[in-house]
Amino acid sequence: MKSHTRVAVIGGGVVGCSVLYHLTKLGWSDVMLIERSELTSGSTWHAAGGFHTLNADTNMAALQGYTIELYKDLEKLSEQSCGLHHVGGLTLATTPDRMDFLKAERAKHRYMGLDTEIVGPEEIRKLSPITNTEGVLGALYDPLDGHLDPSGTTHAYAKAARKAGAEIVLRTPVLETNPRPDGSWEIVTEQGTVIAEHIVNAAGLWAREVGALAGIYLPLHPMEHQYLVTEETPDVYERDSELPHVMDPEGESYLRQEGRGLVIGFYEQSCDPWAVEGTPLDFGHELLPDKLDRIGDSLELAFRRYPVLERAGIKTIINGPFTFAPDGNPLVGPVPGLRNYWSACAVMAGFSQGGGVGLTLAEWMVEGEPSRDVFAMDVARFGDWISPGYTRAKVRENYQRRFSVGYPNEELPAARPYQTTPAYGIWKEQRAVFGTAYGMEAVNYFAPEGEPLFETPSFRRSNAFEATAQECKAVREAVGINEIHNFGKYLVTGPGAEAWLDRIMAGRIPKVGRLSLTPMLSPKGKLIGDFTISRLAEEAFQLTASFGAQAYHLRWFWQHLPEEGVSIENVSTRRIGFQIAGPNARTLLDRVAMADVSNEAFPFMAIREMDIGLCRALVQRVSYTGDLGYEIYVDAEDQIALYETLSAAGADLGLRPFGMRAMMSLRLEKAFGSWMREFKPDYTPVETGMDRFVSYNKPADFIGKAAALAEKAEGPKRRLCTFVVEAEDADTWGDEPIWHDGKVVGFVTSGGYAHHAGKSVALGFLPVELITEEREVEIEVLGKHCKATMITETLFDPKAERMRG
Ligand SMILES: Cc1cc2nc3c(=O)[nH]c(=O)nc-3n(C[C@H](O)[C@H](O)[C@H](O)COP(=O)(O)OP(=O)(O)OC[C@H]3O[C@@H](n4cnc5c(N)ncnc54)[C@H](O)[C@@H]3O)c2cc1C
Repeated sequence: MKSHTRVAVIGGGVVGCSVLYHLTKLGWSDVMLIERSELTSGSTWHAAGGFHTLNADTNMAALQGYTIELYKDLEKLSEQSCGLHHVGGLTLATTPDRMDFLKAERAKHRYMGLDTEIVGPEEIRKLSPITNTEGVLGALYDPLDGHLDPSGTTHAYAKAARKAGAEIVLRTPVLETNPRPDGSWEIVTEQGTVIAEHIVNAAGLWAREVGALAGIYLPLHPMEHQYLVTEETPDVYERDSELPHVMDPEGESYLRQEGRGLVIGFYEQSCDPWAVEGTPLDFGHELLPDKLDRIGDSLELAFRRYPVLERAGIKTIINGPFTFAPDGNPLVGPVPGLRNYWSACAVMAGFSQGGGVGLTLAEWMVEGEPSRDVFAMDVARFGDWISPGYTRAKVRENYQRRFSVGYPNEELPAARPYQTTPAYGIWKEQRAVFGTAYGMEAVNYFAPEGEPLFETPSFRRSNAFEATAQECKAVREAVGINEIHNFGKYLVTGPGAEAWLDRIMAGRIPKVGRLSLTPMLSPKGKLIGDFTISRLAEEAFQLTASFGAQAYHLRWFWQHLPEEGVSIENVSTRRIGFQIAGPNARTLLDRVAMADVSNEAFPFMAIREMDIGLCRALVQRVSYTGDLGYEIYVDAEDQIALYETLSAAGADLGLRPFGMRAMMSLRLEKAFGSWMREFKPDYTPVETGMDRFVSYNKPADFIGKAAALAEKAEGPKRRLCTFVVEAEDADTWGDEPIWHDGKVVGFVTSGGYAHHAGKSVALGFLPVELITEEREVEIEVLGKHCKATMITETLFDPKAERMRG
């Protein structure tokens, strides 16, 4: 075993081996993998080996596509068979809602270039004669689905990596990982100590334990999972061709051919988290005892769906553990708070995702950033608020929902409420229906008396539609109030604060008493943040950005922080308050503030410290509703006092609370983009119109400047546009394809119903050559082509007179 290495990957499952291979592929050959036992000794050896592209996140789906397409090359490179069976797969729909879901997936696949199709019961029977299609409305057919040999595939990655210079050390458990002052790591094993510039935790079932060696908590948990292998049956072996996979979400099962028999696995409701106290260090190539009673109901449904099972007889039952993160996606990337420590774990579908995970991590390590937005699997999408109890509850929910329809408006119930603000009780009394982001409850809308306190999950307009309309009306015609707790907020102070912000942000740094909007860019000129900078004093700033991106942004800040002169404090849950917005907002503020709030004294984009009732507040003259509005920040313990003051003074002005559904509707009327919808690392400033906030000429050499200047000089290939859609009962949410002349030419980033304007609105990308005034296109919503017209003026207040007046 060598004593120094550039990278040490801990764990020789399919994921660790893929990371090792991809590092060599991108040119790093001084890399090694350390495995406790033999390769595949964790979850990998007993996997059912299925692979598919279906994933709610488009970039995750694309990376799954990459993984599947990689295998043929891998076989050639390694001269090791992966045992590939590209047999295609069917996902059945037995309800209209699931059919909507599959149509939405199909639509998304069109612009991703994936060749899926919707098929009817007759076609299903033709493809898979063993499937009883009673009650089946249709299916999504994906020709890329298939299965492989888990062990062969893992060894193929390992062989390809070895050929390119990687070292693999077996039967060597890592006992300690100790950080060194220069950022490298000391890795202690019984065979000796290795100094590694970078460490990758790919320890799968033991990722929690390996993480703990470095003092970190990685939010993942193992679950037990069972599949059955049947005896040989003539219904299978007498066929000329291999059967396709069939996913039956109603029965929570997946089925495929295995030699001359079948394999069927279940994601059952009565599932068991495994190894709650931690994965035993001596757990080896073992299986867990069968628990057939747990899958009794699912088996019954399976016998009806596939009558052949009753004749085939069960040969083997496999019950094994594998790990999940709270949302089911992997945990990948630099671990916040540590230097040169990388995560590649919680991969619950190693044979669909392992290649994409390996590629992403290798790009991140070798090239400094992944080539696409990977927030859906970034380890920093969870913050330090997350607890093992939360993880366990969410992982269980995720397992149970593996085959559930993922509705765009759905709020999942497990582990809630977890984090709340003091105003939570006030909203609850007013019949709030809550959503959650990053562990924090936020009001979606207020249910009128007599309506359920629950939004019906749907792809179409839900029961929140009318209530949201009333909240929008209150904002546009009187004044609305909602919480501003769901922004990430940071105090940046010190003599070096201005210079540091000037380097890290692409926009202008405001003067004292003003705010500015600015993108934050990666070195490649991609959008990695969408910030408001408020200058409180010469050396003090408040930054606001997405609440859900706290760990992501803080990781970037820490990575770029100078040794002295700047300090950063995350005050996201400490500085909260309310936004008031609408034509009566100034009158309301005037009634309660001990300050001149006239337009002259307190213009648009100004910030002021002022006393409001009992509270000392920071007020910003800005509103995401696009209306006359103010954000009022106070310390968390003052929030109720502030609310009492505002609500008493606003009663006769028509003050009414509004939630996130109304907020997202109102912003559409101003075509304001939103983080992770219009603004994310897949896009650039010029493409999204964020270039208007980039200070290309400022003297500071801000991160991403060279790339941003090059992009501006070259001009973009596509641009973000706004459309009015002739929708019926379903609006766009995001990811719908945009058609022109019978071809898919773009896609929607987000959309919805703009209640005040009375129009369905979509934001999305079009190639620049198609962008002309009132360009007509079609947007596919749930399989239907809806006429859509591009608009260049915002639907509300196009001259910004209300907002600035
Ligand atoms: C019953 C079942 C069926 C499945 N079916 C499928 C399927 O059809 N398709 C699919 O894609 N996925 C399937 N999976 C999931 C799949 O098995 C996992 O996604 C995959 O194996 C995860 O691989 P990994 O490399 O992350 O982790 P693991 O396979 O757990 O590998 C981790 C490795 O790290 C090593 N290690 C741990 N600690 C140390 C240490 N201290 N020092 C050195 N080495 C260490 C371990 O020995 C182990 O080899 C299934 C899982 C189960 C349980």
